[in-house]
Amino acid sequence: MTPIQKKMFADLADKTLFEKAQSLGFDYLNKALERNIYPTAEALDNLSVFEEKLPEKTGDAHEVLDKLNEFGSPATVAQVGGRYFGFVNGSVVPAGLAAKNLSIFWDQNTAMQVISPISSKLESVVQNWLVELFGLPKSTVAGFVSGTSMANFCGLAAARYRILMNQGWDLTEKGLFNAPKIRVVTGKHAHSTILKVVSLLGLGKANIEWVDVDGQGRILVEEMPELDNRTILVLQAGNVNSGSFDDFEAICQKAQEKGAWIHIDGAFGLWAGATQSLKHLTKDFEYANSWAVDGHKTLNTPYDSGIILCNDKEALVASLHMTGGYIIIGKERDGMYFTPEMSRRARIIELWATLRYLGREGIDQMIEGIHQRAVQFAQLFEQIDGFKVLNEVVFNQVIVQCATDELTEAVIHEIQELRECWVGGSTWHGRKIIRVSVCSWATTAEDVERSVASFEEALRRVLTTKFT
Ligand SMILES: *Cc1c(COP(=O)(O)O)cnc(C)c1O
Repeated sequence: MTPIQKKMFADLADKTLFEKAQSLGFDYLNKALERNIYPTAEALDNLSVFEEKLPEKTGDAHEVLDKLNEFGSPATVAQVGGRYFGFVNGSVVPAGLAAKNLSIFWDQNTAMQVISPISSKLESVVQNWLVELFGLPKSTVAGFVSGTSMANFCGLAAARYRILMNQGWDLTEKGLFNAPKIRVVTGKHAHSTILKVVSLLGLGKANIEWVDVDGQGRILVEEMPELDNRTILVLQAGNVNSGSFDDFEAICQKAQEKGAWIHIDGAFGLWAGATQSLKHLTKDFEYANSWAVDGHKTLNTPYDSGIILCNDKEALVASLHMTGGYIIIGKERDGMYFTPEMSRRARIIELWATLRYLGREGIDQMIEGIHQRAVQFAQLFEQIDGFKVLNEVVFNQVIVQCATDELTEAVIHEIQELRECWVGGSTWHGRKIIRVSVCSWATTAEDVERSVASFEEALRRVLTTKFT
């Protein structure tokens, strides 16, 4: 036995090491609800302790863990709590987090059934649950990827394959050189990841046919170009600023009749389709061909978790497929056929646990609750001088603005300094805005009140110091 083996066998048998990790994590989680949302200046300064040379000698596992806890933990953003409203980042459902904790010890690779039967089984089960939950065509399959960036990639890769195959052009063999042209039609407010994907897939950003949008960021249906069977139409369930949804009812069925491939980017908004009270927002979205959605946003699974849903299994598998002599085709699901990666961590476990725990009722209540807190934000802002809400709060997003762009920016900065809550900025129709994204199950009515009070305090400070 080598010395390092001896040392690691001892670590493996050291229950106190793993118990410490669990216990520190548990304490963190509970304090995170009350802690400063963003790291203090001191915590950020202390990050310099990590700027060390790679050690020559093997260290001590406890020492590694202690260092991470002492300096890493205070430099985290407390997004698992109820007052983080930045970037549409979700919190974690405790049951999902606990399941992830167990599965960390399993360290499964979900590439093939033979490598991880449990992951294969859970992927099959969750695929069926999601198809039923969203009311998608029975033929829909799911791939479990890192996030919606990758899910958008998979959806458009399948679209690209299918459109060319329909014209007798096998993309996987012949590539894009000299291939028939593919059109991409999308709204001017498409998420930036759509641009990235169009670029990655060689479709060319300059070829995108942009459709004008209304004041909420929704595609203007009457401005849509003529669609055909060479077109990928990318729609949106949840505008990243306003939370608005494209009018699927007016668009999807007609686009399908024209033979276009419809892809819906529903990173956080697709979950409206899993509720009773908000599913009107996604009416007729089932006429699309592919849907991208995150677990780690509205559903509050741990990071990272994204899902591609596609009603054309052949196109999805053919465009992501790989082969090799050593690959053993399982009797059941081999996850790698549905994703670009071969080896993948078993994020399906947390996703399964989250869905299994919440059930339809829990999903409905959690998402409706998130919506209600966003509505509460808007109502409180309406009562305060100095803040104006610019969007219809249809889902979880609230766009707020101060009198001038300069003031808006200064207030964002001050809110971040106060650390009671965290919000970021964005631009909306050419103006600076504060973007409030309610995305945590843990946000209570009191959290919203506290946060709005912090907005008021920030505005007061800015007005009395900088703007007088
Ligand atoms: C967050 C988001 C994405 C990107 O998703 P990731 O999970 O961060 O990869 C794409 N589209 C929309 C609308 C989003 O909100």
